[in-house]
Amino acid sequence: MLIVMQQGVSEEDIARVIARIQAMGLIAHPIPGSSRTAIGITGNKGPLSPAEFEILPGVKTAIPVTQPFILVSREARREDTQITIAGRKIGAGHLAIIAGPCAVESVEQTLAVAHAVKSAGAHFLRGGAFKPRTSPYSFQGLEKEGLKILARAREETGLPIITEALDTESIEMVAEFADVIQIGARNMQNFPLLKKAGRCRRPVLLKRGMSATIEELLMSAEYIASEGNGGIFLCERGIRSFSTHTRNTLDLSAVPAVKAASHLPIIVDPSHGTGMRSMVAPLARAAVAVGADGLMIEVHDNPERALSDGPQALLPAQFEALMKDIRAIAEIVGLEV
Ligand code: PEP
Ligand code: MN
Repeated sequence: MLIVMQQGVSEEDIARVIARIQAMGLIAHPIPGSSRTAIGITGNKGPLSPAEFEILPGVKTAIPVTQPFILVSREARREDTQITIAGRKIGAGHLAIIAGPCAVESVEQTLAVAHAVKSAGAHFLRGGAFKPRTSPYSFQGLEKEGLKILARAREETGLPIITEALDTESIEMVAEFADVIQIGARNMQNFPLLKKAGRCRRPVLLKRGMSATIEELLMSAEYIASEGNGGIFLCERGIRSFSTHTRNTLDLSAVPAVKAASHLPIIVDPSHGTGMRSMVAPLARAAVAVGADGLMIEVHDNPERALSDGPQALLPAQFEALMKDIRAIAEIVGLEV
């Protein structure tokens, strides 16, 4: 159930509705907006009666929500959500460029890539310290040592860092170092991890599972939001299909589909979405044209020697050239870079 308050309603009216929800043993989630405040209700076992809330002063309407997600729904918040991380805005007209290596491999490699992407105009540094690898024999990441290297790169470049938390055991350590916690495609439906991310005081980048529908992606975001963390942005990173000419099939229609159903920002990762260096720039340009709120791009200074995902990494000079195109397209579609 979603309670929509009247425009210009008083704080007391909002507090009264929240108290009423809590008195029923339910959880109230206020969702402020510029034109109206909504209050999501969760914790009910069965349907609630709108009339019970509509009699309260200041309530405009009570809507039984039709989708299985409430807090992240467009019904809950009509305007686009904007997240601010270390002074950098994502969403609602602001494009976020996240770039860096697939994995943190060494101090030298991370600093070299961090400086290169910074000077090309990236806003965030990415890099995995905990790597979800298909083979147990592949490089698994430098773990805590990797987080320390990222922190050093942030110190040197000023770029906030985004890095993946792989499990509930290590997420708190990741949250200590990272500006944004990434939850990867393979963990999109790791519900204990989502709940724990919802209790961390850090924004979360939630990547779409490789065979997840948009509804499932938004349900996973709802897990995070329902624990009290509304700082969520989503990422389309390609899905499994019958096609073999790319590593995954980048589903750019996910961008308008998410925007219709949810107020959360959505970015696109054409690196994992294609798996091929030659396709990263064309699809990055397309993603911005289609309305994505940001891009996540893998960059490596020596891709032939990369410990993971070398074939999809852009060279620093290629990333710099892409940034020029992105600025031009962003201007046409009215986005701030
Ligand atoms: C990554 O971004 O480092 C990653 C592992 O991507 P995904 O979870 O989308 O496969
Ligand atoms: Mn990768």
